[in-house]
Amino acid sequence: MAWDFETDPAYQAKLDWADEFVRQEVEPLDLAFPHLQFVPLDGGRRKAIDPLKERVREQGLWATHLGPDLGGQGYGQLRLALLNEILGRSSWAPIVFGCQAPDTGNAEIIAHYGTPEQKERYLRPLLDGELFSCYSMTEPQAGADPTQFTTRARRDGDDWIIDGWKFFSSNASTAAFLIVMAVTNPDVSAYQGMSMFLVPADTPGIKIVRNVGLYGEPDNEGQHALIHYDGVRVPAGALLGGEGQAFVIAQTRLGGGRIHHAMRTIGLARKAIDMMCERALSRETAGSRLADKQFVQGYIADSYAQLQQFRLFVLYTAWEIDKYNDYKKVRKDIAAVKVVMPTVLHDIAWRAMQVHGALGVTNEMPFFGMVHGAAVMGLADGPTEVHKGTVAKQVLRDYRPTDDMWPTGWMPRLREQAQEKYAQFLEHEVGNQ
Ligand SMILES: Cc1cc2nc3c(=O)[nH]c(=O)nc-3n(C[C@H](O)[C@H](O)[C@H](O)COP(=O)(O)OP(=O)(O)OC[C@H]3O[C@@H](n4cnc5c(N)ncnc54)[C@H](O)[C@@H]3O)c2cc1C
Repeated sequence: MAWDFETDPAYQAKLDWADEFVRQEVEPLDLAFPHLQFVPLDGGRRKAIDPLKERVREQGLWATHLGPDLGGQGYGQLRLALLNEILGRSSWAPIVFGCQAPDTGNAEIIAHYGTPEQKERYLRPLLDGELFSCYSMTEPQAGADPTQFTTRARRDGDDWIIDGWKFFSSNASTAAFLIVMAVTNPDVSAYQGMSMFLVPADTPGIKIVRNVGLYGEPDNEGQHALIHYDGVRVPAGALLGGEGQAFVIAQTRLGGGRIHHAMRTIGLARKAIDMMCERALSRETAGSRLADKQFVQGYIADSYAQLQQFRLFVLYTAWEIDKYNDYKKVRKDIAAVKVVMPTVLHDIAWRAMQVHGALGVTNEMPFFGMVHGAAVMGLADGPTEVHKGTVAKQVLRDYRPTDDMWPTGWMPRLREQAQEKYAQFLEHEVGNQ
């Protein structure tokens, strides 16, 4: 009987260390250096953050998503989930622990598909946390449906020339390189006709037209770039994986990224519950504490139950990834986790906000940011609706249609069969007595 919900004591000790470290040292970075996680370190920030990274390395918790060949511990996804739920409390924590999106996913695909030269040039510094990367896939006219992408890469001698537009390329303005998805053969299906390129950010022809911000951020100071690739020339060695492999590579990347977001969301939602409970116990109105009001008790109970269900689902999915070591096999559950994630965070953050009254909606508390973050989660890495479609298709694979006029579960026939089966034990009753 291998089901086990306990963490081994040695790793639990590391988690306890991480929990204390994140609360004491890392969460304050969110307030001291807000929104600067993806700006390369210099000056005071480097002095503050490098020693923290060093302490993480000393604990063997740096980049734990990686195998030992890439400088990680090879802990696997389940252990990463337990760590990530701690890191989810702070925007800076993934940077300090060397496991921030989108760089984790980008590192993963370079590790998987990159040539030795590409690994040396991009992967090493990425894993050392010394540079940032950008994943440039979505286009202004098409996001959820990559078959509609039009950004084109054409051969010119040994080089490729990339032309087109990309939208929502996160961190493009601070990234050292971009991973660009482009059509290399328009004559075959998009699934075989697109390729990925590793493009240094200073390559001539990359024009960041706008840095789009999320709601509430100042104009043109956001992190999500609209980019015009205008005759961007790269050598043959910039191709990542084989020609036509972009879809396969994208699936590898996004599978991992989605589950990592979910792991961190557990931590963020738990933080909202912590704050809701403290407030409920501390605030009195109409003759009793908020904690004594049944509506508020309902908020707390619903939030606890919702988070527990979500957490177990995420941990189970992480366990499946470790077991099968094949994202395709776990696709259904990764997509289902992605579907549930925005609702869990939204509902819990919303209740916590409500329990805080007017203070809850101010910029002095984090709840509105969480609610907004939940909305973003329903889009980034693919809209909820698309993932629901994936889940449904995968679920339906396990079923077959019936050609009978009545469904298999039609009860009159089942009853007849059941009565036949147990005829010898059934008493024959007559009339109404
Ligand atoms: C904060 C953030 C960061 C991002 N970072 C990156 C990044 O770094 N790199 C990158 O390439 N992209 C990034 N994206 C883009 C993201 O991947 C796209 O937003 C997403 O794929 C959806 O594409 P779209 O916005 O064009 O919406 P559309 O494709 O236009 O879809 C709009 C809506 O239509 C509905 N819809 C679409 N398809 C279906 C369907 N099949 N069935 C039912 N309904 C459907 C859904 O309601 C969907 O929300 C980011 C997005 C956000 C919000």
